[in-house]
Amino acid sequence: MPRYDYQCLECQEIFELRHGFTEQPAPCPHCGSQNLKKRITSAPTIARGILTPAGDGRRATKEQLRDKWREETPKLREKLVKRLGEETVSRMAPTLNANYD
Ligand SMILES: [Zn+2]
Repeated sequence: MPRYDYQCLECQEIFELRHGFTEQPAPCPHCGSQNLKKRITSAPTIARGILTPAGDGRRATKEQLRDKWREETPKLREKLVKRLGEETVSRMAPTLNANYD
């Protein structure tokens, strides 16, 4: 559940609440007022929560691409060598000889 920083406009107390995105926050734990203001400092926390899994996903995809490249390139090269000959492949497709990194 996401975490938010609130400031109570009655007693000026700053506190942290956890609640769902569409749910209303609980009243101030100090004075019971519902006159609360969401603090801007909570925004980076929310952004991090959203961005971190996306970042991991991108890394995983890149790893998968590299693995796929390493797996597929020798097969592709072998096929081309059979059809065109070793010399032609080496001359025409130097990227097939290079490592992905
Ligand atoms: Zn209060």
